[in-house]
Amino acid sequence: MLFKVFPRDQLEILYDILAGHHLVGPQIIGTDRNGQELFAFDYIHSFTELRIDFTSTVHSLKSFVLPPRENLSSFALANNDWEKNVDLGIYKPHVFFGLHPCDINALNKLDKVLTGPVYPDPFYTGKRKNMFIIGVNCIPQPWCFCKSMGTDTVLSGFDMFLTDLGDKYFVEIQSATAYDILMELPITEPTDEDHRRFVQLMDERNSKFTCQVDNSDLTKILDLEFQSPVWQEWGKRCMSCGTCANVCPTCYCYGVTEHVDLDLKSATKQKQLYSCNLIDFAMVSGGHNFRPDSASRLKYRYYHKHRGFQEAYEEALCVGCGRCGQACLAGITVPEVIDSVRRQEVPK
Ligand code: SF4
Ligand code: SF4
Repeated sequence: MLFKVFPRDQLEILYDILAGHHLVGPQIIGTDRNGQELFAFDYIHSFTELRIDFTSTVHSLKSFVLPPRENLSSFALANNDWEKNVDLGIYKPHVFFGLHPCDINALNKLDKVLTGPVYPDPFYTGKRKNMFIIGVNCIPQPWCFCKSMGTDTVLSGFDMFLTDLGDKYFVEIQSATAYDILMELPITEPTDEDHRRFVQLMDERNSKFTCQVDNSDLTKILDLEFQSPVWQEWGKRCMSCGTCANVCPTCYCYGVTEHVDLDLKSATKQKQLYSCNLIDFAMVSGGHNFRPDSASRLKYRYYHKHRGFQEAYEEALCVGCGRCGQACLAGITVPEVIDSVRRQEVPK
Protein backbone atom coordinates (compact mmCIF):
# COMPACT_ATOMS: atom_id res chain seq x y z
CA MET A 1 0.00 0.00 0.00
CA LEU A 2 1.24 3.48 -0.91
CA PHE A 3 0.51 6.49 1.31
CA LYS A 4 0.47 10.11 0.14
CA VAL A 5 -1.07 13.40 1.22
CA PHE A 6 -2.58 16.24 -0.76
CA PRO A 7 -3.89 19.66 0.28
CA ARG A 8 -7.54 19.82 1.27
CA ASP A 9 -8.48 22.30 -1.46
CA GLN A 10 -7.40 19.75 -4.08
CA LEU A 11 -10.40 17.53 -3.38
CA GLU A 12 -12.46 19.56 -5.85
CA ILE A 13 -9.71 19.08 -8.47
CA LEU A 14 -9.86 15.33 -7.85
CA TYR A 15 -13.63 15.51 -8.36
CA ASP A 16 -13.17 17.51 -11.58
CA ILE A 17 -10.73 14.91 -12.96
CA LEU A 18 -13.29 12.18 -12.38
CA ALA A 19 -16.44 14.14 -13.20
CA GLY A 20 -16.42 13.03 -16.84
CA HIS A 21 -17.46 9.56 -15.66
CA HIS A 22 -20.73 8.47 -14.12
CA LEU A 23 -20.04 9.53 -10.57
CA VAL A 24 -22.01 8.26 -7.58
CA GLY A 25 -21.61 9.59 -4.07
CA PRO A 26 -23.40 10.51 -0.87
CA GLN A 27 -25.70 13.50 -1.09
CA ILE A 28 -28.29 15.03 1.19
CA ILE A 29 -31.90 14.10 0.40
CA GLY A 30 -33.74 15.84 3.24
CA THR A 31 -34.09 15.72 6.99
CA ASP A 32 -35.74 13.30 9.38
CA ARG A 33 -38.43 14.19 11.93
CA ASN A 34 -35.71 15.38 14.32
CA GLY A 35 -34.18 17.67 11.73
CA GLN A 36 -31.15 15.41 11.19
CA GLU A 37 -29.80 15.29 7.66
CA LEU A 38 -30.66 12.21 5.59
CA PHE A 39 -28.23 10.98 2.95
CA ALA A 40 -28.40 8.66 -0.06
CA PHE A 41 -26.00 7.40 -2.71
CA ASP A 42 -26.98 8.85 -6.07
CA TYR A 43 -25.49 10.34 -9.19
CA ILE A 44 -23.57 13.52 -8.44
CA HIS A 45 -23.67 16.38 -10.92
CA SER A 46 -21.59 19.02 -9.13
CA PHE A 47 -18.93 19.07 -6.44
CA THR A 48 -21.23 20.96 -4.06
CA GLU A 49 -23.67 18.01 -4.10
CA LEU A 50 -20.99 15.61 -2.88
CA ARG A 51 -21.10 15.26 0.92
CA ILE A 52 -18.22 13.00 1.93
CA ASP A 53 -18.72 14.23 5.50
CA PHE A 54 -22.00 12.27 5.58
CA THR A 55 -23.06 10.24 8.62
CA SER A 56 -24.55 7.18 6.91
CA THR A 57 -27.03 6.52 4.14
CA VAL A 58 -30.47 4.98 4.67
CA HIS A 59 -29.83 2.53 1.83
CA SER A 60 -26.49 1.06 0.89
CA LEU A 61 -25.20 1.30 -2.67
CA LYS A 62 -26.41 -2.26 -3.29
CA SER A 63 -28.86 -1.15 -5.97
CA PHE A 64 -25.92 -0.15 -8.19
CA VAL A 65 -24.58 -3.72 -8.28
CA LEU A 66 -27.75 -5.69 -7.43
CA PRO A 67 -30.70 -3.76 -8.86
CA PRO A 68 -34.04 -4.55 -7.14
CA ARG A 69 -35.31 -5.90 -10.48
CA GLU A 70 -33.27 -7.09 -13.40
CA ASN A 71 -34.14 -8.92 -16.62
CA LEU A 72 -32.14 -12.13 -16.87
CA SER A 73 -33.28 -12.99 -20.36
CA SER A 74 -36.01 -12.37 -22.88
CA PHE A 75 -37.49 -14.69 -25.50
CA ALA A 76 -39.30 -13.97 -28.75
CA LEU A 77 -41.03 -16.27 -31.26
CA ALA A 78 -40.51 -15.44 -34.93
CA ASN A 79 -40.65 -17.39 -38.19
CA ASN A 80 -41.28 -20.75 -36.52
CA ASP A 81 -38.18 -20.25 -34.39
CA TRP A 82 -37.33 -18.47 -31.19
CA GLU A 83 -34.65 -16.09 -30.06
CA LYS A 84 -33.14 -15.64 -26.67
CA ASN A 85 -31.57 -12.36 -25.65
CA VAL A 86 -29.39 -11.90 -22.57
CA ASP A 87 -28.30 -8.41 -21.58
CA LEU A 88 -25.96 -8.49 -18.60
CA GLY A 89 -26.79 -4.87 -17.88
CA ILE A 90 -23.13 -3.90 -17.51
CA TYR A 91 -22.81 -0.21 -16.84
CA LYS A 92 -20.24 2.10 -18.24
CA PRO A 93 -17.41 2.61 -15.72
CA HIS A 94 -18.70 4.24 -12.56
CA VAL A 95 -16.79 6.19 -9.94
CA PHE A 96 -18.04 5.69 -6.37
CA PHE A 97 -16.77 8.67 -4.41
CA GLY A 98 -17.08 8.47 -0.63
CA LEU A 99 -17.73 4.91 0.55
CA HIS A 100 -17.26 4.13 4.22
CA PRO A 101 -15.25 1.05 5.26
CA CYS A 102 -18.42 -0.91 6.11
CA ASP A 103 -19.84 -0.50 2.61
CA ILE A 104 -16.56 -1.46 0.92
CA ASN A 105 -16.37 -4.50 3.20
CA ALA A 106 -19.97 -5.33 2.24
CA LEU A 107 -18.99 -5.41 -1.44
CA ASN A 108 -16.02 -7.62 -0.57
CA LYS A 109 -18.41 -10.04 1.15
CA LEU A 110 -20.84 -10.06 -1.78
CA ASP A 111 -17.86 -10.78 -4.07
CA LYS A 112 -17.13 -13.98 -2.16
CA VAL A 113 -20.49 -15.38 -3.22
CA LEU A 114 -21.34 -13.65 -6.46
CA THR A 115 -17.93 -13.65 -8.16
CA GLY A 116 -16.76 -16.91 -6.61
CA PRO A 117 -16.49 -20.27 -8.35
CA VAL A 118 -19.66 -21.83 -6.92
CA TYR A 119 -22.44 -19.31 -7.71
CA PRO A 120 -20.91 -16.79 -10.15
CA ASP A 121 -23.33 -14.07 -11.15
CA PRO A 122 -22.27 -12.48 -14.45
CA PHE A 123 -24.77 -9.64 -13.99
CA TYR A 124 -23.14 -8.62 -10.69
CA THR A 125 -19.57 -9.35 -11.79
CA GLY A 126 -19.87 -7.20 -14.89
CA LYS A 127 -20.96 -4.19 -12.88
CA ARG A 128 -18.44 -4.82 -10.14
CA LYS A 129 -15.50 -4.86 -12.52
CA ASN A 130 -16.44 -1.40 -13.77
CA MET A 131 -16.24 0.32 -10.40
CA PHE A 132 -13.60 2.80 -9.32
CA ILE A 133 -13.92 3.24 -5.57
CA ILE A 134 -12.79 6.13 -3.42
CA GLY A 135 -13.24 5.25 0.23
CA VAL A 136 -13.44 7.78 3.02
CA ASN A 137 -13.15 7.37 6.77
CA CYS A 138 -16.33 7.82 8.80
CA ILE A 139 -17.41 9.21 12.12
CA PRO A 140 -18.98 6.37 14.16
CA GLN A 141 -22.71 6.74 14.75
CA PRO A 142 -24.51 5.44 17.87
CA TRP A 143 -26.01 2.49 15.95
CA CYS A 144 -22.78 1.33 14.23
CA PHE A 145 -21.26 -1.89 15.53
CA CYS A 146 -18.82 -2.42 12.67
CA LYS A 147 -15.94 -2.53 15.13
CA SER A 148 -17.41 -5.70 16.65
CA MET A 149 -17.69 -7.19 13.16
CA GLY A 150 -14.10 -6.29 12.20
CA THR A 151 -15.33 -4.07 9.36
CA ASP A 152 -14.50 -0.63 10.77
CA THR A 153 -11.38 -0.58 8.62
CA VAL A 154 -10.76 -1.92 5.16
CA LEU A 155 -7.60 -3.16 3.47
CA SER A 156 -8.83 -4.06 0.01
CA GLY A 157 -11.66 -3.44 -2.40
CA PHE A 158 -10.95 0.24 -3.10
CA ASP A 159 -8.74 2.24 -5.43
CA MET A 160 -7.92 5.02 -2.99
CA PHE A 161 -9.02 5.75 0.56
CA LEU A 162 -9.10 9.23 2.10
CA THR A 163 -8.76 10.36 5.69
CA ASP A 164 -9.34 14.02 6.52
CA LEU A 165 -6.33 15.30 8.48
CA GLY A 166 -7.71 18.85 8.64
CA ASP A 167 -5.70 20.90 6.17
CA LYS A 168 -4.91 17.90 3.98
CA TYR A 169 -6.10 14.43 3.02
CA PHE A 170 -4.13 11.32 3.86
CA VAL A 171 -4.61 8.91 0.98
CA GLU A 172 -4.07 5.16 0.84
CA ILE A 173 -3.51 4.02 -2.74
CA GLN A 174 -4.45 0.54 -3.91
CA SER A 175 -4.52 0.70 -7.69
CA ALA A 176 -2.31 1.95 -10.52
CA THR A 177 -5.27 3.90 -11.91
CA ALA A 178 -5.67 5.73 -8.61
CA TYR A 179 -1.95 6.52 -8.57
CA ASP A 180 -2.05 7.90 -12.12
CA ILE A 181 -5.02 10.12 -11.25
CA LEU A 182 -3.36 11.39 -8.09
CA MET A 183 -0.24 12.30 -10.05
CA GLU A 184 -2.33 15.16 -11.47
CA LEU A 185 -2.54 16.61 -7.94
CA PRO A 186 0.30 18.07 -5.87
CA ILE A 187 0.69 14.89 -3.80
CA THR A 188 3.59 14.57 -1.38
CA GLU A 189 4.97 11.96 1.01
CA PRO A 190 3.33 12.05 4.45
CA THR A 191 5.55 13.68 7.05
CA ASP A 192 6.18 12.28 10.54
CA GLU A 193 3.63 14.82 11.77
CA ASP A 194 1.08 13.47 9.25
CA HIS A 195 1.72 9.95 10.58
CA ARG A 196 1.18 11.12 14.16
CA ARG A 197 -2.00 13.01 13.19
CA PHE A 198 -3.34 9.96 11.34
CA VAL A 199 -2.76 7.63 14.29
CA GLN A 200 -4.24 10.20 16.70
CA LEU A 201 -7.37 10.53 14.51
CA MET A 202 -7.78 6.75 14.36
CA ASP A 203 -7.51 6.55 18.14
CA GLU A 204 -10.12 9.29 18.52
CA ARG A 205 -12.39 7.52 16.05
CA ASN A 206 -12.00 4.20 17.85
CA SER A 207 -13.08 5.79 21.11
CA LYS A 208 -16.38 6.87 19.50
CA PHE A 209 -17.71 3.38 18.84
CA THR A 210 -20.35 2.91 21.51
CA CYS A 211 -22.51 0.10 20.10
CA GLN A 212 -21.04 -3.40 20.45
CA VAL A 213 -21.90 -7.02 19.85
CA ASP A 214 -20.26 -9.93 21.63
CA ASN A 215 -19.50 -12.35 18.78
CA SER A 216 -17.36 -14.73 20.79
CA ASP A 217 -18.37 -18.35 20.16
CA LEU A 218 -21.48 -17.05 18.42
CA THR A 219 -21.70 -19.88 15.88
CA LYS A 220 -21.65 -22.43 18.71
CA ILE A 221 -24.19 -20.48 20.70
CA LEU A 222 -26.48 -20.25 17.68
CA ASP A 223 -26.19 -24.02 17.21
CA LEU A 224 -27.07 -24.59 20.85
CA GLU A 225 -29.96 -22.12 20.84
CA PHE A 226 -31.66 -23.16 17.64
CA GLN A 227 -34.85 -24.05 19.54
CA SER A 228 -34.60 -21.15 21.98
CA PRO A 229 -37.90 -19.44 22.89
CA VAL A 230 -36.28 -16.04 22.25
CA TRP A 231 -36.86 -16.58 18.52
CA GLN A 232 -40.60 -16.84 19.17
CA GLU A 233 -40.49 -13.57 21.10
CA TRP A 234 -38.69 -11.73 18.29
CA GLY A 235 -41.05 -13.38 15.80
CA LYS A 236 -44.04 -11.84 17.61
CA ARG A 237 -42.55 -8.38 17.06
CA CYS A 238 -41.41 -8.87 13.47
CA MET A 239 -43.95 -7.67 10.89
CA SER A 240 -42.32 -9.62 8.03
CA CYS A 241 -42.02 -6.41 6.03
CA GLY A 242 -38.59 -7.18 4.55
CA THR A 243 -37.27 -3.67 5.17
CA CYS A 244 -34.17 -4.99 6.95
CA ALA A 245 -33.04 -6.94 3.89
CA ASN A 246 -33.93 -4.06 1.62
CA VAL A 247 -31.55 -1.64 3.33
CA CYS A 248 -28.88 -4.25 4.11
CA PRO A 249 -25.71 -3.98 2.01
CA THR A 250 -25.04 -7.72 2.20
CA CYS A 251 -28.48 -9.33 1.67
CA TYR A 252 -28.55 -10.79 -1.83
CA CYS A 253 -31.42 -13.34 -1.82
CA TYR A 254 -33.63 -13.16 -4.86
CA GLY A 255 -36.54 -14.79 -6.62
CA VAL A 256 -37.03 -15.43 -10.33
CA THR A 257 -40.33 -14.94 -12.15
CA GLU A 258 -41.33 -15.49 -15.75
CA HIS A 259 -43.63 -13.11 -17.57
CA VAL A 260 -45.30 -14.22 -20.78
CA ASP A 261 -46.82 -11.50 -22.93
CA LEU A 262 -50.51 -11.75 -23.79
CA ASP A 263 -49.82 -12.52 -27.46
CA LEU A 264 -47.79 -15.57 -26.33
CA LYS A 265 -44.99 -14.48 -28.66
CA SER A 266 -42.53 -13.06 -26.18
CA ALA A 267 -41.53 -13.54 -22.58
CA THR A 268 -39.02 -12.32 -20.01
CA LYS A 269 -37.33 -13.98 -17.06
CA GLN A 270 -36.86 -11.50 -14.25
CA LYS A 271 -34.79 -11.55 -11.11
CA GLN A 272 -36.11 -9.65 -8.12
CA LEU A 273 -34.32 -9.09 -4.83
CA TYR A 274 -36.22 -10.71 -2.03
CA SER A 275 -36.18 -10.87 1.73
CA CYS A 276 -36.14 -14.09 3.71
CA ASN A 277 -38.51 -12.35 6.14
CA LEU A 278 -41.32 -12.12 3.58
CA ILE A 279 -44.16 -14.56 4.17
CA ASP A 280 -43.80 -16.47 0.89
CA PHE A 281 -39.99 -16.65 0.83
CA ALA A 282 -39.93 -20.40 1.47
CA MET A 283 -43.18 -21.31 -0.28
CA VAL A 284 -42.83 -23.97 -2.96
CA SER A 285 -45.00 -25.42 -5.71
CA GLY A 286 -48.15 -26.93 -4.29
CA GLY A 287 -48.39 -24.20 -1.67
CA HIS A 288 -46.29 -25.72 1.12
CA ASN A 289 -44.40 -23.09 3.10
CA PHE A 290 -41.24 -24.31 4.83
CA ARG A 291 -41.13 -21.19 7.02
CA PRO A 292 -44.74 -20.25 7.64
CA ASP A 293 -44.20 -18.15 10.77
CA SER A 294 -42.30 -14.90 11.21
CA ALA A 295 -40.18 -16.36 14.03
CA SER A 296 -38.62 -19.03 11.83
CA ARG A 297 -38.01 -16.58 8.99
CA LEU A 298 -36.33 -14.04 11.27
CA LYS A 299 -34.30 -16.78 12.88
CA TYR A 300 -33.02 -18.10 9.56
CA ARG A 301 -31.96 -14.59 8.50
CA TYR A 302 -29.70 -14.52 11.55
CA TYR A 303 -28.49 -18.07 10.97
CA HIS A 304 -27.53 -17.30 7.40
CA LYS A 305 -25.60 -14.17 8.38
CA HIS A 306 -23.94 -15.31 11.60
CA ARG A 307 -23.83 -19.09 11.25
CA GLY A 308 -23.96 -20.42 7.67
CA PHE A 309 -21.89 -17.68 6.05
CA GLN A 310 -19.42 -17.79 8.94
CA GLU A 311 -18.98 -21.52 8.39
CA ALA A 312 -18.51 -21.12 4.63
CA TYR A 313 -16.25 -18.06 4.58
CA GLU A 314 -14.97 -17.66 8.16
CA GLU A 315 -16.67 -14.29 8.49
CA ALA A 316 -20.20 -13.09 9.15
CA LEU A 317 -22.47 -11.74 6.42
CA CYS A 318 -22.97 -8.54 8.37
CA VAL A 319 -20.81 -5.43 8.45
CA GLY A 320 -22.44 -3.86 11.50
CA CYS A 321 -23.70 -0.79 9.64
CA GLY A 322 -26.84 -0.82 11.79
CA ARG A 323 -29.09 0.18 8.87
CA CYS A 324 -31.54 -2.68 9.51
CA GLY A 325 -32.11 -1.63 13.12
CA GLN A 326 -32.50 2.01 12.14
CA ALA A 327 -35.08 1.18 9.49
CA CYS A 328 -37.05 -1.52 11.35
CA LEU A 329 -40.43 -0.18 12.49
CA ALA A 330 -40.52 -2.88 15.18
CA GLY A 331 -37.20 -1.65 16.58
CA ILE A 332 -35.43 -4.98 16.06
CA THR A 333 -31.65 -4.50 16.05
CA VAL A 334 -28.85 -7.01 15.49
CA PRO A 335 -27.04 -6.21 18.78
CA GLU A 336 -30.22 -6.75 20.81
CA VAL A 337 -31.15 -9.99 19.06
CA ILE A 338 -27.67 -11.49 19.46
CA ASP A 339 -27.45 -10.35 23.04
CA SER A 340 -30.86 -11.87 23.80
CA VAL A 341 -29.78 -15.24 22.39
CA ARG A 342 -26.76 -15.17 24.66
CA ARG A 343 -28.75 -14.18 27.73
CA GLN A 344 -31.92 -16.12 26.86
CA GLU A 345 -33.98 -13.03 27.54
CA VAL A 346 -35.70 -10.63 25.16
CA PRO A 347 -35.70 -6.96 26.24
CA LYS A 348 -39.18 -5.55 26.97
S1 SF4 B 1 -36.97 -7.44 11.49
FE1 SF4 B 1 -38.00 -5.43 11.29
S2 SF4 B 1 -37.49 -4.71 9.23
FE2 SF4 B 1 -37.03 -6.91 9.29
S3 SF4 B 1 -38.90 -7.90 8.52
FE3 SF4 B 1 -39.09 -7.84 10.78
S4 SF4 B 1 -40.19 -5.91 11.18
FE4 SF4 B 1 -39.46 -5.78 9.07
S1 SF4 C 1 -27.64 -7.16 8.95
FE1 SF4 C 1 -28.07 -5.01 9.51
S2 SF4 C 1 -26.20 -4.31 10.50
FE2 SF4 C 1 -25.65 -6.19 9.39
S3 SF4 C 1 -24.95 -5.48 7.37
FE3 SF4 C 1 -27.14 -5.88 7.15
S4 SF4 C 1 -28.13 -3.89 7.56
FE4 SF4 C 1 -26.01 -3.73 8.30
